[in-house]
Amino acid sequence: MSMFCFQCEQTAKGAACTAGGVCGKKADTANLQDALTGALIGLAKIQGSGKPDESATKAIIDGLFSTVTNVNFNDETLNKQIDAVKGNDNFDMARIWEGNEDIRSLKSLLLFGMRGMAAYAHHAYALGKTDDDVNAFFYKGLRALGEDLGADELLPLIMELGNVNLKCMEMLDAANTGAYGTPAPAKVTTNIEAGPFIVVSGHDLYDLKQLLEQTKGKGINIYTHSEMLPAHAYPELRKYDHLKGNFGTAWQNQQSEFDNIPAPILFTTNCLMPVKPSYSDRVFTTSVVSYPGITHIGDDKDFAPVIDKALFLGGYKEPKKMTGINGGDTLLTGFAKDTVLSVAGTVIDAVKAGAIKHFFLVGGCDGAKPGRNYYTEFVKQSPKDTVILTLACGKYRFNDLDIGEIGGLPRIMDMGQCNDAYSAIKVAVALSEAFNCSVNELPLTLVLSWYEQKAVCILLTLLALGIKNIYIGPSLPAFISPNILNFLVENFSLTPISTPEADLKKILG
Ligand code: SF4
Repeated sequence: MSMFCFQCEQTAKGAACTAGGVCGKKADTANLQDALTGALIGLAKIQGSGKPDESATKAIIDGLFSTVTNVNFNDETLNKQIDAVKGNDNFDMARIWEGNEDIRSLKSLLLFGMRGMAAYAHHAYALGKTDDDVNAFFYKGLRALGEDLGADELLPLIMELGNVNLKCMEMLDAANTGAYGTPAPAKVTTNIEAGPFIVVSGHDLYDLKQLLEQTKGKGINIYTHSEMLPAHAYPELRKYDHLKGNFGTAWQNQQSEFDNIPAPILFTTNCLMPVKPSYSDRVFTTSVVSYPGITHIGDDKDFAPVIDKALFLGGYKEPKKMTGINGGDTLLTGFAKDTVLSVAGTVIDAVKAGAIKHFFLVGGCDGAKPGRNYYTEFVKQSPKDTVILTLACGKYRFNDLDIGEIGGLPRIMDMGQCNDAYSAIKVAVALSEAFNCSVNELPLTLVLSWYEQKAVCILLTLLALGIKNIYIGPSLPAFISPNILNFLVENFSLTPISTPEADLKKILG
C-alpha cells in the first residue's frame, strides 16, 4: 500500500485509494497531504487552548482546505505548507488509518468535516470575517485527532462540529450578503456569445468580483462554471454587464467541456480534475488550488495573465449554443432564504390549500457515477404538487428542466452553493414555526448526494440539529464503519437511496 485515502465518494472499489487516487491524486501527494494534516495536529497541540495566533489559524484553515478532494495536486506547494507549520510533534496519520475501525470512522468524520468547514472559513476570511468559536474548534478537533479517545468522547465532538459548522455557514452567508447584497432570482443562459471570454469555476465570490473589476471595459465576457452559478443572484456581481451566463455543467464534465476551449478557465476552489493537454495552457489557479505546471495567481489577485490569455484566444467566432444535461438552455438561481421567506405567506397558503403536498431538498455534490442519474429521475418523477429546493452542484442533474410552477413559484428553486445549506435550514426552521411543529414533522424530505468533505460537514450540521430521515447517495461513505452506520440509522434514520420510484413511494405513501 503506497497511500491511504478514503475521504470521497469515488474512492477506489468503494473502500480506499491505496495505489493512486481515482481523482488523479498521486500517492506522493496523498502522503504529503497526510503529512500536512499531521503537522497541523502538531501545531494545534503547540498552540494549547489559549487564544490562538492568527497566522497559525490561517495556516490551519488553508492547510485543511488544501486537503479537500480536487483542490491541490501539487507536491511543491504542499511541501511549502508543511515547512511553514512544521514543529517537533507532528502526528503520524497512519495511527488513525491503521487503528480500530470504529475510532477510525469517527475520527474520519471529525477530520473530513473540519476540512469541509475550513473551506467556508477560508471564503469568509477573504471577506474579512472570522469567528472565535469556529477557529477554536479547529484547534480542539485537531488535538482530538492526535489523542487516544473513545467513541463516547468522539461522538459529542462530532455533534459539536455540526453545530459549529452551522455558525461557520452563517458567518459566510453574512460575509457574502454583506459584500454583494441579498441574492434575488436570476435567469442564467448557458449559451456563449462570440468574442473573448473567461470561465470562472469554484466557490470564491471575492475572486470573481476582483476579476469582474479587472475585466471591465476590456471586451471580455465572464461565464460562471459549476458552483459559481449562484453568483448571478448577487446584486453587486450581477450589476456587471459582462457577467453573461454559465458555461457547461457540473465539475466532473470539465475534461470534455474544456477540450480545446478558446478561453481561459480560472479555478478559485475545487473541483479541479487532472488537466488535459488540450487545454492545459489555458487553466489558471488561485488561492489554495494548485496543480503542477499550471500558472497560479497569487494573493495580489492580479489576473492580468488570465485577461491576456482571453484576449489572445479570442473566444468563439460565432455565438455558441450550449445546454444543460437535459437539453435546456436557461438556469434559474437565487432562491436563497430571503427570497423564499419573502413569499412564505404564499407558500404556507399553498400548503394549507393542498396545492403543495411536499417539499424535497434534492441537493449536494455531483459526481461521475452513473447511479447519480437517480437525482434526475427523482425530480422528473416528483408529483406536480411538490416543490424541489436544491443547492450545490448536484442540481446540474436537473436544473435545466422546466417542470412547471405552483402558484407562480417555480417548482425547482435553487438556493445557491453548498454553504447555502444555511439558507435551507433557515427556511425549514421558519416553516416549522409557521406550522407550529418540528422540522421533522414538516412535509419535507432531504434527498442528498455527497461527493467530498463539505458534504460531510453539512450532514453533521443536519444531524446536530436533530434532522432525521435523510436520504443519502449515491453510495454510503467508505469511512463509515458498520457499527457507526448502525448508530446513524438507529438514532437519525439515515437512509441510503434506492430507486426514485421506491423512495418516492416510501416518502409520499
Ligand atoms: Fe481516492 Fe477520493 Fe482520496 Fe482522491 S480524494 S485519493 S479519489 S478517496
